[in-house]
Amino acid sequence: MRVAVYGARSYDRQFLTAGNAAHGHDLVFLDAGLSPLTVPLAAGCGGVCAFVNDRLDAEVIEGLAALGVKIAAMRCAGYNNVDLAAAADAGIAVTRVPAYSPHAVAEFTVGLLLALDRNIHRAWSRVRENNYSLDGLVGRNLHGRLVGVVGTGQIGALVARTLRAGFGCEVLASDPVVNPELEAIGVRYSTPEALLREAEIVTLHCPLTPETRHLINAKTLAEAQPGLVIVNTSRGALIDTQALIDALKTRRIRGVALDVYEQEAGIFFGDLSNEIIDDDVLQRLLTFPNVLVTGHQAFLTEEALTAIAETTLTSLTDFENGRPLANALHAG
Ligand code: NAD
Repeated sequence: MRVAVYGARSYDRQFLTAGNAAHGHDLVFLDAGLSPLTVPLAAGCGGVCAFVNDRLDAEVIEGLAALGVKIAAMRCAGYNNVDLAAAADAGIAVTRVPAYSPHAVAEFTVGLLLALDRNIHRAWSRVRENNYSLDGLVGRNLHGRLVGVVGTGQIGALVARTLRAGFGCEVLASDPVVNPELEAIGVRYSTPEALLREAEIVTLHCPLTPETRHLINAKTLAEAQPGLVIVNTSRGALIDTQALIDALKTRRIRGVALDVYEQEAGIFFGDLSNEIIDDDVLQRLLTFPNVLVTGHQAFLTEEALTAIAETTLTSLTDFENGRPLANALHAG
């Protein structure tokens, strides 16, 4: 099948091309992301392949359907950017990659936490300038800290286990589904409200839904432990970024590590080093010494990219051959 691969970066091309040797699709790699403006680039394609910040709203879906596109294969786990009802109405199947390597994201999360709370990123830039002073770099042990893990699905469970069994943290978790294996190693489940009030470190691993949007907001920040550390590798809009900036300015927060950002679409995944950035919120965030931002990188390992390519290509092959889609998404 001819497939338009939107927003294709070097690593997408490399791993999809390698995996495609066993599938034989005609992959058309496009630099541009999917938006109403770029829908026509899918002309002649039976499928599109898209990523987290591509727009698959009703307008785009209808445009794709009018071109004869029959499947949208998301090469990611999250799908908050896809209007599944519109896709169903337009007769476009949607698939995703529900699990590629939770280890990739979990390990990056712990890496961010360590880097932030031990000032590793700041030490690195100091040493490059031959500044070996340790002033301002005092960290804290993770051992014994009370960490709140919001969402103990595939990624959150690994983070909770690593922090509990590896570092000896006290771990509070919140998830509508309790994981008994985590309870067996001493993870305690609680309500999200209690978790956000009690934890010294909060790490977010729940999906973005209307219910979880701005889960961390002015109220929860005001009620949180002074000196809270927040890590978010899930979705940017779980945090009200303006409220976060206000809390950073009042010094209530010890530090924040973000791999995702509410308004990351149009900014992340591109080289904007020669551009003027209009987003004042992101720019303000980057001025704090106790904020560490990475550009939605937690998934980026060889193992994850290989698995993403294989699952995505298998969905396209199964669709082409009329087989049931193991990773189909349905509205509702
Ligand atoms: P998952 O579906 O396995 O786990 C999500 C968990 O969140 C589930 O156990 C679910 O019950 C729980 N949950 C749902 N609503 C909740 C709520 N209101 N409060 C607490 N928990 C709630 O998903 P996963 O594979 O562990 O991924 C978690 C998130 O990580 C994804 O939604 C995605 O947004 C994000 N992610 C980010 C990257 C990255 O590169 N930064 C990569 C992959 C996934």
